[in-house]
Amino acid sequence: MVPIRLVAATANPHKLAEIAQVLGEAFELLPRPADLGEVVEDGETLLDNARLKAVAACTTSGAAAVADDTGLEVDALGGAPGVHSARFAGEHATYTDNVERLLSALVGIDPGRRTARFRTVALVRHPDGSEVYATGTVEGRIAEHARGEGGFGYDPVFIPVEGDGRTFAEMGDEKHALSHRGRAFRSLELKLARGPVGEGA
Ligand code: IMP
Repeated sequence: MVPIRLVAATANPHKLAEIAQVLGEAFELLPRPADLGEVVEDGETLLDNARLKAVAACTTSGAAAVADDTGLEVDALGGAPGVHSARFAGEHATYTDNVERLLSALVGIDPGRRTARFRTVALVRHPDGSEVYATGTVEGRIAEHARGEGGFGYDPVFIPVEGDGRTFAEMGDEKHALSHRGRAFRSLELKLARGPVGEGA
């Protein structure tokens, strides 16, 4: 079977590795075009931002492109940081800055009220303007301290409900079976197997 080629919009090596692992052999993930500049992620929703990135990679490469956008929604913070997850601690915040800001915002909040979820929108844009997208979520809670060395972003403080108490950063590839990104890309894969069916499919 000839693999379906998709240009990756992301330059994030963690994300690329996770996406490549989830999509498997039916897909060939091509690297982000070298001449694609920074894409300003100023959409109001995860879907807007995934589309901005996929359209930019598709336009630059002239080929089908795939992008994802993820938000962490913390119930005690009214759903924040959500679409602003990358910039929670400021415009040029590091992963550590964001995790520290989150832990500070939740000081004194007891374990039962630290519920949260990751939500990912994964989207493929074709050169003819058609697109296919899918969403994946995972429910969990925010740990009181960062734990683990794996993963990236908020993984050291996210404990999935369906797990055994470890944070995502304490898991290896087991993360993909439960994760928002794993779920979004497996669902996207099923939709792509049925073929492009137009805008907002
Ligand atoms: P992005 O805009 O999709 O790159 O994601 C926004 C922010 O969410 C990133 O800067 C990360 O901090 C965080 N994030 C995205 N995916 C994950 C994940 O799988 N685990 C933990 N944090 C993540």
